[in-house]
Amino acid sequence: MATAVTPVPPGDVTQRVGVEVIRARGVDVEKLIKMLIANAAAEFASTYYYYTILRMHLAGYEDYKEIAEDARLEDRAHWELIVPRIYELGGELPNDLPEFHNQAGCVAAKLPNPPTVVNILTILLESERCAIRSWIAVCDMTFGKDPRTYDLASRILNEEIEHEAWFIELLAHERDGKSIPSGHFRRGEPGEAPYSKNNRFYNP
Ligand code: ZN
Ligand code: FE
Repeated sequence: MATAVTPVPPGDVTQRVGVEVIRARGVDVEKLIKMLIANAAAEFASTYYYYTILRMHLAGYEDYKEIAEDARLEDRAHWELIVPRIYELGGELPNDLPEFHNQAGCVAAKLPNPPTVVNILTILLESERCAIRSWIAVCDMTFGKDPRTYDLASRILNEEIEHEAWFIELLAHERDGKSIPSGHFRRGEPGEAPYSKNNRFYNP
């Protein structure tokens, strides 16, 4: 397959071969940067920040707190994983935190009123679902064209899918008295993030 790559002159620091090659394969780089900023904002502002608050209000449910902690710290790992890619693509984070927050691709996981355990688990579940939709959109856009972004997004997607399963299990148990196993094995340590930190999988 012949793909026309704009030649980047030797020593030119205003263009990036790493960007031109994915553009030549059909990636709308400007749109991708916007999506990555929206997803980074969702990881950092809509989930990591607000999950901190949600977790504080799960007092008495120490097992649920532990799961919320894994989801919280893994979303922080997702933020850390994807931010470098935004810059590599020639993008940048807004130099204003409220502006960044307002670009998030998912609604803020604010403490529900009343902050019952069922209401908190419902917020957590729907946040994970938004994350899955957002990351698979990046996978779709980059598949077969931008292997680096695809790899990062699919690592994150792996963990978001696990997070959804965890909160389905907890909400079904807590709200409906139903057993819907998530297939969850304990992480080695809180926030292990086996895919996005490239740690080894649970395998004692
Ligand atoms: Zn995440
Ligand atoms: Fe998550």
